[in-house]
Order: sequence, then structure tokens, then C-alpha cells
Amino acid sequence: MTPMPAATPLSARVPGRVNLIGEWIDFNGGIVLPMTLDRHVTVGLTPNKTDKDLIRSAQFADQGAFPVDAPAAGHWSDYVRGALQYARNARWIAGGVDAEIASDIPVGAGLSSSAATIVATLRAASAGLSSVEPVSIAQAARQIENEFIGVPCGIMDQMAVALGRAGAALALDTRDCSYRLVDVPSDWVFAVIASGTRRALADGRYKERRGECLAAAQALGVDLLCDADISAAGRLPANLAGRARHVIGEGVRSRRAVDALSQGDRPAFGRLMSESHASLRDHMEVSVPAIDALVADALTLGADGARITGAGFGGCIVCLVEAGRAASWWEDLSSLHPAAERIA
Ligand code: ADP
Ligand code: MG
Repeated sequence: MTPMPAATPLSARVPGRVNLIGEWIDFNGGIVLPMTLDRHVTVGLTPNKTDKDLIRSAQFADQGAFPVDAPAAGHWSDYVRGALQYARNARWIAGGVDAEIASDIPVGAGLSSSAATIVATLRAASAGLSSVEPVSIAQAARQIENEFIGVPCGIMDQMAVALGRAGAALALDTRDCSYRLVDVPSDWVFAVIASGTRRALADGRYKERRGECLAAAQALGVDLLCDADISAAGRLPANLAGRARHVIGEGVRSRRAVDALSQGDRPAFGRLMSESHASLRDHMEVSVPAIDALVADALTLGADGARITGAGFGGCIVCLVEAGRAASWWEDLSSLHPAAERIA
């Protein structure tokens, strides 16, 4: 008897992302400007004809083995399992799968390894189904991160990794999900540097800051904090006033940054990045001293702009550097900060 051929693995490869500007405004009605990285997660799925998912990742020592309908368990494999459950509900796949994951996106560094992992799993599960649009995948991935994982994130990360392409930034209006890709001039380098500072207590503080933004919007009588009048912020309690000042100002900065990028105005884009950092430090209060020092040195050594990126409390910075000086700039910066690691 001829043996049955092995089931074809379904696979997908999805990049991580860095947000260039527009921080903390993805749920406040602002425009964000993420760009994909040359770092990727690859997910391969093989239906296993059982009622269990078996999940292995090169980045995690233990494996995840759970019944197909098991709820989130606080295990790293939750992100993959949430996506697999979504894919079964959508009838893209049936039954349990063996999932293999490999990635060079640092985990938990604010470069969206989570969204990339979910989007890659959804893409692998829907491989060959031409009716599944990238925007639908992004929306599904956000729903999984919100509802299955329980992280109240906006839509930026999922859209960035599902729709981005190398050499362009995605100008995404989070109000209506309209977007356009804006080419990055070839002599601009966005260097991404991991500070070596772990993001301490990030989850709890993310929720707290998010709650403060929503409370500030309510107190100022708007649905989306970006729409509030900055002159009214002064009558709020100090913490809410700071969040409002950051969000309203960042909404304006990110719009200007899209114009600066379109016009190839590197100094203007860099200034907006550095202003964003100051606001994240002073008004949003999501920076830490080690990151402030890294940003300051990046600028002193010749970057056009530098800022903390991601939700904050540690993690990475992103710097704009002219391509011709990027190598020597990094050599100088890394000699001052030996714990820093260049990710992109
Ligand atoms: P990030 O800033 O990298 O998105 P998150 O805390 O949002 O950090 O997401 C990290 C989680 O995403 C991990 O704990 C894990 O559950 C999942 N994940 C990321 N990369 C991988 C991987 N290579 N293999 C398996 N799971 C991954
Ligand atoms: Mg994440």
C-alpha cells in the first residue's frame, strides 16, 4: 500500500515593527507611523488530527500542549493558541495542529513580537485562502490580543506588521484605519537600539496610563483625547493634565512628521522625534533615566532625532541618522553604552 503523503505544512513569515512617531495615540484618535524591521517570525503549522495543539518555539525552552478549546493559561504559547482558535472558528483549519515558531524579533522589547506571532499564525492558517485580506488579519489579531490574551492594545501593531513593506513607513490614522505607505528616503537610517533595560512592571503601568488618557478625555468632554483643546488641560489633576498634553501634542507632531517624511526633510523629522521623547519623559512619564541618557548621547553624537519607542518603561530607542554616518555614530554610541544592542 502507498503511504499517505505527509500533510503539507502551512507557513508564514511576518516582520516586527518600530514606531517612528505617534506614541500613545493609537487609541486616542491619532496618526501613528510604524515601519517594519528586517527581523521576522516564521510560523509553520501541520494539522495533527488530534484535539490538542502542540506548540514549539525556538525562543522558549518548554513546549505548549493544550486542548484545542482551552482558554489562555498565562503561557507564552497563548498568542499562538488564540490565533489557532480564531482560525478554527473561521473554518480556515480543523482540529489540532503542531506549530513550529522561530524568530529573530526580540521578545518583549516593544518591537511587536506579539503581533507578528499572531499575524504569522493567522496567515499560516489561512495560507491559500485568497479571500482573507491583510486588514481582516490585522483586525483579527487585535481582537485576539484584546480578548484572548487580555491586553487592551490598539490596532497599530497588527496593521504595521500585516501591511508594512520594507523601505516605507505606514501612516495609519487610527480613527478610521485609513492608511498610506510613505517611502523613506534612501539616505535616512532609522537605527533601533535596545537599551538593555528591562521593561519593569510594564503591563500594570500600561493599563494605568491608558486609563488616565480615557479619564482625561472624559473630563475634557471629548471621545478621543487627540481632539481636546490643549489650553483646557491645565484644569485637570496633574497626572491627567500631563497625559493630555502629551497626547494632544503628539497628535500634532505625528501629522507634521508624515509631511516631513513625504518632503524628505530629515532635520524636521528628527526634531519632531526628539520633541516626542521629551513629552514622553515629562508629560506621559514613561521613560527611565537609562533611556534618557542613551537618547541624549545619540543626539550629541550626531543623530537628527532620537526617542524612546513602544509603550516605554525601558525597551528600545529609535534614532534617525544620515546613512553615511550611521556606522561611526553607532560605534561611538556603543562605546559609551556597552549594554546597548543595535537591533536594526
Ligand atoms: P513585544 O513588545 O515583543 O510585542 P509582548 O509582551 O507584547 O512583547 O509579547 C511577547 C509575547 O509574544 C511572548 O511572551 C510570547 O507569548 C509571544 N511571542 C513573541 N515571540 C515569540 C516566539 N518567537 N515564539 C513564541 N511566542 C512568541
Ligand atoms: Mg506586543
